[in-house]
Amino acid sequence: MTVVGVQCPQCGSREVVRYGRQANGEQRYRCNNVDCERRIFLVRYHHTGRLPEVKRQIVDMALNGSGIRDTARVLGVSPTTVMSTLKKKRRRSTR
Ligand SMILES: [Zn+2]
Repeated sequence: MTVVGVQCPQCGSREVVRYGRQANGEQRYRCNNVDCERRIFLVRYHHTGRLPEVKRQIVDMALNGSGIRDTARVLGVSPTTVMSTLKKKRRRSTR
C-alpha cells in the first residue's frame, strides 16, 4: 500500500492510497481514515487553492473559529492562500 501526496477532501487525512481508476480513466483514491464518511474520491485539480469549493471551505472554517494555520493544514493549501481568500471575502462583505 502506497501513501500518495493527496489529501482526503472529506476529512483532510493524508492517509490516502490509489484505488484503481474510473471507467473514464480518472484516478480514484481511497481514504484510510476509518472515521471518514467519504472514503473513495477523485482528484482532478492540483491547484486546489484556486477552487471555489476550497475557498468556500476556507470561509466556513474561519466562521467556525479555525485559525489560519489549522485551515491551511486541513484543506491542504498554503496559509497565504487562506489569508488572501479571507481578505477578499472580508472586503466584499464589509457593511
Ligand atoms: Zn477521509
